[in-house]
Order: sequence, then C-alpha cells, then structure tokens
Amino acid sequence: MHILPIPEIEAMPFTALDEARPVALVTSRAAWEAVRGRLHLPIVWQVEVEEATQACWDTLVPSVQGEVVYAVGGGLAADAAKYIAVRCDLPLVCLPTALSVDAFLTWASGVRQDGCVRYLETKAPDRLVIDYGVLAEAPPSIRAAGICDLLSIATGSWDWRFAEEQGKNPEGMEYVPYVDQVAAGILQGALDCAEAAGRGDPAGLKQLLDCLALEVQLCNQIGHARPEEGSEHYFAYAVENAMGAGLAHGDLVGPGILLMAERQGQDLSPLRHALESCRIPLETIPQAVIESTLRSLPAYVRRHDLPYGIAHCLTW
Ligand SMILES: [Zn+2]
Repeated sequence: MHILPIPEIEAMPFTALDEARPVALVTSRAAWEAVRGRLHLPIVWQVEVEEATQACWDTLVPSVQGEVVYAVGGGLAADAAKYIAVRCDLPLVCLPTALSVDAFLTWASGVRQDGCVRYLETKAPDRLVIDYGVLAEAPPSIRAAGICDLLSIATGSWDWRFAEEQGKNPEGMEYVPYVDQVAAGILQGALDCAEAAGRGDPAGLKQLLDCLALEVQLCNQIGHARPEEGSEHYFAYAVENAMGAGLAHGDLVGPGILLMAERQGQDLSPLRHALESCRIPLETIPQAVIESTLRSLPAYVRRHDLPYGIAHCLTW
C-alpha cells in the first residue's frame, strides 16, 4: 500500500516567484491573460489546453521543452500539466488562478472517456503556490467553485452510508464511521467559509483551501473518494454529454448536489446558501436536460460501473 501526500503549499505573490529553470507552461487563455503581467518565467514552451482527453495530452508530450512544468490556471491546466510532467519526468509547479476545484492537490488527472470521467494516476504538484491577491481577482463564478468538491461531501457521504445499508460497498470501500465524521467536520468548515470565500476575502479563501487539502488527504489515506464523490458527481459526468465540454466543474456539480440532496431527503437550505454565496451558476442547465439526465442516470451509473448511491435507484 502506498499513500501519497498533498503538495507543499506556499502563499506568496506570483510577482515574487523566482524561477531559473527553462519553463514548459501549461495554461488556458483566460487565466494566462489574467496573470501574465505578474509572472517573469523563462518560458521555452507553452500550450493552452482545451480538452481533457488522454489522446489530446499525448499529442503534446513529444514537443515539450524545458526543465520544469508550470500549470497556470484552473483544473484543466492542472490535470493536463500533471499528466505531461509525469510523461516527461519533470518537476511540476502549480499556480492556481482560482480555487475552482481540488485538482491542484490531488495525484490524479480527470479525463473524459466514453462519455464518463476517469481518473488517471499522475502526480501531485511538487509545489503549489497560492497568491490570495490573484484568487481575489478571479471571475466570481469560479473563484471559490472548489466549494463544490466539499459540499459534495453532503451527498457523497450519504451515498456511502446508503451503500453500506444496502450491502453494496465492495472490499476496500467499507464504511468507516469516524472517516464519515471527519468528512462531516470538513463539510462544516466549507459551509462556514462559503460567504467569505465567495467574496474573495483572504481568510475565507484560506479556509476553503484548508478544507480542500483535508478532504484530499482524507481520500488519500483511505484509498478512495467515497466521502466526497457520489451521485452529484455522476450527474455532472452524465449531463456533460448533453451540455458539451467547456462548462466549469462547479456549474455541473453544483446543481448535482442540490438535485441529489433533494432526492436523499436532505435539508437543501445550507447547501443552497453556500453555493449561492460562492456564486455557483445554478441555472445553466436547462430543465429538460436535467430531467432527461435524471431519467437516464440509473442506467448510466451501471454502464460505467460507478460506486453505489442514490443515482442507482432514482424512480419516477
Ligand atoms: Zn469534483
């Protein structure tokens, strides 16, 4: 068994970064435009990633130059950079321009495959640099959207308990009460910081980062993501097929949390308040698309062999 750590995290202004090694830059257009003036990196290779597929990333690998990979942007840049750094055997520095997902902290890269999301083992960044000034200036709808990967504890943990009651947790994913309680504490931390993080307040963003780091390390310790990933993520993966790639993770997972929590019989108000505080767009997906996705979800989760949850037994 091997247990991987979260990255070393440093808080400092991007303007103070001093990099002597030639840099391979993985970014997105909007993120790069936002922060390029603050960075003085010796860039020798650069790519704007637009797709989360292994095939797309494989086409980039042969041309990479430099001695260190920098990821500047959100989850897509981080996931692609993690893959490229592993394939090229290079160190990786991650500079998030928004706290939009937990991908900056994990050792896996999410890829689209056959209409679902799979996670490839890559590696965590060797160094994660947080500039609270940059995060505060990020577009409001993505600035603190990582809250979705914490509010998903409400629905993911519910699924985990439900699966245990139904005898559906396979070996290696057994329900562990104290882990569930730790996850509930992290969820509370996320609910408590939602307003401040949504405003871009540094203390709120710091607590959001702390909660994301604890959530990722909790999953690292137990070897699976059941406390934070369940039917809300399955909904997001399924509905992306109808909405097309390009929507932010929060735009898909946020509505998924409310839809699944409702069907689980949970109180929606604290979740809705936290999502709204973090400016998560909850009206992006048309009602007809929501309904058709929910109808197809039980078959979808079986087809993709996703761990058991409320999505497996939605009825009409
Ligand atoms: Zn997620």
